[in-house]
Amino acid sequence: MFYQRMCKEFEEDYNIKPEDNISYEYFTTIWAEHLPEFKIPKTSEFVECSICAQLKEDRNRAKTKQEKEIISELLKKHFVQVETERKVYHATREQARFEPDEIMCIIQDGMDQKKTAIPRLVNEDKMTSLLARIRLHITGNIIHTNVPGGKIIPAYVDLLNYPHDSNLSMHLLLQTLFDNRARLSRCLFTQLDNCYRENKNRYMLSLAHVLVQYKVFDMVDLHFLPVGHTHEDIDQLFSCISRHLKKTNIYTMDDMERAVMNSYNVPVFVKHVEGVFDIKKWLLPHMVKNFKGQSKPLHFQFKEFDGKVRMRYRHRSTSNWRPVLQFKDDDFTPIEESKG
Ligand SMILES: [Zn+2]
Repeated sequence: MFYQRMCKEFEEDYNIKPEDNISYEYFTTIWAEHLPEFKIPKTSEFVECSICAQLKEDRNRAKTKQEKEIISELLKKHFVQVETERKVYHATREQARFEPDEIMCIIQDGMDQKKTAIPRLVNEDKMTSLLARIRLHITGNIIHTNVPGGKIIPAYVDLLNYPHDSNLSMHLLLQTLFDNRARLSRCLFTQLDNCYRENKNRYMLSLAHVLVQYKVFDMVDLHFLPVGHTHEDIDQLFSCISRHLKKTNIYTMDDMERAVMNSYNVPVFVKHVEGVFDIKKWLLPHMVKNFKGQSKPLHFQFKEFDGKVRMRYRHRSTSNWRPVLQFKDDDFTPIEESKG
């Protein structure tokens, strides 16, 4: 595709005859030799929701007007469901601002690292575009609480020297809780990226269990948005950071830190990740037994019941909690696949 576009541009802009363009083989050889750092991503950076993708494909293939209408109706219903899940988060963040002693609401996500490599210059020239870049990654947390602006925003910068897995997510969540320990409320509500590798796994669920067991919180909720519909206020923050970076010359880590701090209407507190605790190892004695099927539910809740920490879950915010009537005797109720 790039080769075809290049040939077309040469023909249109420079009147090069098609037969005078270099061959595709020569084009790929030059690319491999001189521009090995330029890679075309195999997939889009945004994961599309499988339900949306399937319904849109079905609608395109539909032969009759009636078929198209039925599929459009299904799509509409799906969007209503997604919106209902968003409202769970929006209602909780409002509650956290009005009742900060009752609930602490935190959203966590990572910024696209292609936008934060340094040096980063407003006007690139041939020389600067060839400079080696240091890649870094920003994880943002927004704590919704009763402060001017309604939020506290810590952002953690790492040089991709730690695996981006649940250890890093849990470490940064605990770091945020520790740094804001004077603000801990009765309940914690987390809005995490719906990603198995980092968040939606038995380690994160076990951490929620431990936070209740050790009485840090009376109740912990882990809430996820449907995959492909996870764009939230944290992404708006990243867009603001990204826009601000485009207007700023960034040569050093300090420049980056300053730019990120001043990129949003609420100050962003930047911290460097100096190390990551092996929280997965700490959690091993607390690990969930017989645990499976956590990929489907969007909402998990942990609280003490009858002297023990229990978990319940629901597939969507409109589904019933399971177990429905009471928590079972097991430390954790094994989740049965796909009944929602
Ligand atoms: Zn969808």
